[in-house]
Amino acid sequence: MSEPTDWKQKYRDSLLEMEAEEKRWRQVEQLLRRLIGRLCAAGLGVDSRLDEELTALAAANRRNAEAAELERLAASLTIAVVAVDGVAPAARTATLKSARQDATRAAIQSLFERLRPGAPSVAAIQSLLSELAIAKSDAAVAAVVERAADMVHERGELLVRERLRAAALLSEVTERLEEVAGYLTESNSASRSRFDDTQSLNDTVMLHVRELTDEICEATELSVLQTAVTARLESVAQQVSDFRVREQTRLVEYNGRADHMRARIADLERETQELHSKLDIEKHVARIDPLTGIANRKSFEERFEMELARRAQNGASLAMLLWDIDSFKGINDRYGHRAGDRVLQSVAACFTAALRPADFVARIGGEEFAVLLTGLTLAEAVMAANQVRTAVEGLRFHFRGTPVRVTVSCGITELHPGDASEQAFDRADGALYSAKNAGKNLCVAA
Ligand code: GH3
Ligand code: MG
Ligand code: MG
Repeated sequence: MSEPTDWKQKYRDSLLEMEAEEKRWRQVEQLLRRLIGRLCAAGLGVDSRLDEELTALAAANRRNAEAAELERLAASLTIAVVAVDGVAPAARTATLKSARQDATRAAIQSLFERLRPGAPSVAAIQSLLSELAIAKSDAAVAAVVERAADMVHERGELLVRERLRAAALLSEVTERLEEVAGYLTESNSASRSRFDDTQSLNDTVMLHVRELTDEICEATELSVLQTAVTARLESVAQQVSDFRVREQTRLVEYNGRADHMRARIADLERETQELHSKLDIEKHVARIDPLTGIANRKSFEERFEMELARRAQNGASLAMLLWDIDSFKGINDRYGHRAGDRVLQSVAACFTAALRPADFVARIGGEEFAVLLTGLTLAEAVMAANQVRTAVEGLRFHFRGTPVRVTVSCGITELHPGDASEQAFDRADGALYSAKNAGKNLCVAA
């Protein structure tokens, strides 16, 4: 069986992680609630019916009303918004409205970007982002905000349930361990009582032998002596036979308890194994970017720290590449968010294919990627980066029947002795900025 304290600690750690995650989601929920409050305030003064709806929604939001009530108020708000949209006087300029929507969209988008990935909400976030990108009216944007609020609320609830489940499992496993400890104590006391029983049998036999010796010395007649010896031998035989019966009972009990314990221990091992693999899967999922299937920012940060530590030990060279897709917003704007997503997936696959299997590629932000190259000089890293850049340039995209050219820019830096990851990031970022300023589709070394 594995060392109990080791995995007990692991469960405690994951409970703490879950608590932190739950706290984070609660903060996000508060942020969303504030956002709803601001949106409500921003919409006041356009129409009296709309004002009523907005005031009711803001009040419900302030007192942390349940999702069902918010849903009902949001539905009624949507009807009011549609009504106002329908009778909107031409004087209320479309430009003003679209500027407001853009600001709302940007605020919601930055909120989403702050949500750390964690199954199962990432796919939902992606789909909300896509809807947000094409949302044309206030009502459509409001519907996205409302769904985002629900999603955050659900995520919080899910985390609470997960934490309770893990706590219940931990207590069950602890109970089983206590059972095993109890069995060991019982076994100890059983062997002590067996020892005492043997000792007392020994004492009885020795007493009979001593008394028999005295009787032999004192006996004058053979017949008396015979009777005394026979009686003593019978008594000893009886004691030994009783002892055997007790010994047999003890053996049966012992075997029964040992079988029971073996089965319990096997259960325990199976359960801990299942929990281990579940934790491993969850940890793996938390490190993968669901859109592109490559490592995410968290995973990159961990790997970077590991490579820095390795570098401090063996002095091997390490280069960091920061990438950004050129004019990506234009692709989203012209061909839609889904087209943008396809570009992100193809570029990620192209990076992986163009680099060596040992190189590390991650999507660290919206259209930003980072790469770690080990064992290359700066000049070699620049060559590798240019190969990747050319490979992306060679990708063929067609959206709405039009061929679309996608390019990437890159900032490259070599790690210096004593560098922390932030310094390397800053240098690579500066180099990337120069690549953008020098006309894009370029790799620049810092
Ligand atoms: P530059 O060449 O200077 O980098 O210009 P850019 O348009 O690429 O840069 P900008 O930072 O202005 O735009 C990045 C855009 O990426 C904005 C955001 O909407 C979009 N984006 C971020 N994440 C995603 C995503 O997951 N999917 C899609 N389709 N777009 C995303
Ligand atoms: Mg960018
Ligand atoms: Mg860009």
